Amino acid sequence: MKRLFALMLRRLGLLDFRFLVKRVDRHPGKIEIPAGELWLVVDGGAKKWACFSCPGGCGVQISLSLNPERRPRWEVEHDFWGRPTVSPSVHQQKMCRCHFWIRNGMIEWCKT
Ligand SMILES: [Zn+2]
Repeated sequence: MKRLFALMLRRLGLLDFRFLVKRVDRHPGKIEIPAGELWLVVDGGAKKWACFSCPGGCGVQISLSLNPERRPRWEVEHDFWGRPTVSPSVHQQKMCRCHFWIRNGMIEWCKT
């Protein structure tokens, strides 16, 4: 419901974002995740993965481990509207090799 409202506010130009969080309870596997969705895999109350399609043009699925016991690891927070902030930055080592931050649901490209 909040998601629909966020999409409406974006259409009206009152809110801006490229990604919204969608909570799921299992890793989606190698499926294509719809553009604009960042799937947050929460299993047993713990954040496990953040999965989304690469925004750099190649569209491959990016899976970021949120497990604090693994390296590398990322952290995902989101605001009231479900706009994610991911840290640190994401650097694709293959395919399009893009490098970016996701902050408040927006993509900030790194020049390198
Ligand atoms: Zn890419």
